[in-house]
Amino acid sequence: MFDYLIVGAGFAGSVLAERLASQMNRSVLLCDKRPHIGGNAYDCYDDAGILIHKYGPHIFHTASPRIFRYLSQFTGWRPYEHHVLAHVDGKLVPFPINVDTVNALYGTSYSPAEVEAFFARVAEPIKHCRTSEDAVVSKVGRELYEKFFRNYTRKQWGLDPSELDAAVASRVPARTNHDSRYFTDEFQAMPLRGYTRMFENMLDHKNIRVLLNTDYREFMNEVSFREMIYTGPVDAFFDFRYGKLPYRSIEFKFDTHDREVFQPNAVINYPNEHDYTRITEFKYLTGQEHPKTSVVYEFPRDEGDPYYPVPRPENGELYRKYKALAEATPNVRFVGRLATYRYYNMDQVVGQALATFDQIREATLDGAAV
Ligand code: FAD
Ligand code: UDP
Repeated sequence: MFDYLIVGAGFAGSVLAERLASQMNRSVLLCDKRPHIGGNAYDCYDDAGILIHKYGPHIFHTASPRIFRYLSQFTGWRPYEHHVLAHVDGKLVPFPINVDTVNALYGTSYSPAEVEAFFARVAEPIKHCRTSEDAVVSKVGRELYEKFFRNYTRKQWGLDPSELDAAVASRVPARTNHDSRYFTDEFQAMPLRGYTRMFENMLDHKNIRVLLNTDYREFMNEVSFREMIYTGPVDAFFDFRYGKLPYRSIEFKFDTHDREVFQPNAVINYPNEHDYTRITEFKYLTGQEHPKTSVVYEFPRDEGDPYYPVPRPENGELYRKYKALAEATPNVRFVGRLATYRYYNMDQVVGQALATFDQIREATLDGAAV
């Protein structure tokens, strides 16, 4: 008999397992159908001995001191600020677009104030910014949109930016200054010994039992538990009752090169050429020193493991039907990127899991008071 069955050992499931075990002394059975913990943040050493991220590059960043403090109980950190270059018009230029991007592309020498005036000239006024196309052309105009966003987005999502919510492309700012960091959050760092080690530390508790290589449906009826926390795709939980919710997948192709450095930057985006969107060289992220280097190419796919919810109005509508079902299902909580169909970063999932834990604890206290 367990107090909780938690499905999925990614951030959502592992944070809740840790909190329930350590703060409420609950017994937890945490299962994952994959052969490892960590969910999509899982990292491991490849055959050459280089630390890679099996499900694509994961860079930790958050504006929340609470979330950073929470995770710091389980890992030390390596300070790391992420920078991306985009290959456009035969040049490697800083991305997100900033004053240096514009100057490198157009051979201009604009100051930040001048590039602001340039954006104001080329931006298209849009009253209700609904789509990702709107979000970009209303800030930097159509030409930069075409160079950096249109084709990348079509590759990444199999959809035109005009078919995706504004929130997708709005994840990437447009800047008039020289700041070339991908993220501007106060806390930006990589777990010192990797994500998997951090998860191992989180789950190292006598009240937590981890069961890998196992779909929860295989043993659901043979194990007793009081409550369930589900972090897999919400539509699968309900046997696709209202149809499939679209999730975008990616095929990752890894390569190891017999030289110390492969490319001049951690990530290079290829908006307009190739079938892949970007190449990541892991040693930049991890700081590992090694005579060889490993990279990953990302090929977006319709089929495969679900990685990205697809933010667009009709999917939001379908999700709301599943959400209503989820809310009407007693003793099951739905948490995480797949279960709540939200394009969440790692820190947001941690925040959502901590908030869920607070709710569980409050409900227990209320119950005790009655
Ligand atoms: P997941 O990590 O997906 O965990 C869910 C787990 O549930 C999985 O392990 C799955 O195997 C398991 N599961 C599902 N169904 C079942 C079942 N029936 N039985 C048993 N187990 C099941 N975020 C950042 O902050 N920074 C980044 O740089 C970043 N880069 C990313 C790059 C890529 C390519 C992707 C795809 C995501 C990236 N993210 C990044 C987002 C990050 O991966 C997620 O926010 C986070 O990992 C989600 O955690 P989760 O626990 O909600 O889901
Ligand atoms: N994007 C783009 N060109 C780029 C990088 C991003 O058009 O060079 C768009 C694309 O639609 C992408 C979205 O911005 O899906 C968000 O980018 P982000 O880097 O946050 O994506 P993630 O790392 O989550 O895949």
